Amino acid sequence: MNGAGRPARQVACPGCGESAEYSPANPWRPFCSERCRLVDLGAWASEAYRIPVKSDPGAQGLPGEGDEESPGGPQ
Ligand SMILES: [Zn+2]
Repeated sequence: MNGAGRPARQVACPGCGESAEYSPANPWRPFCSERCRLVDLGAWASEAYRIPVKSDPGAQGLPGEGDEESPGGPQ
């Protein structure tokens, strides 16, 4: 069997790297499955929405000396 009668092209799934069938039979092409497709889209979305947060000098001060919970305080 050479598979000459079925020109199903196999490509590497961008999601998991597994071989995926690149043909109209595979609605998730070039992914191997819906899951990989969603994961890839999710990764794109999260990356797009990710805001590069630069650590503020001083924001990460001494632990315990923050202002998160001040029991008592000046009364
Ligand atoms: Zn995959």
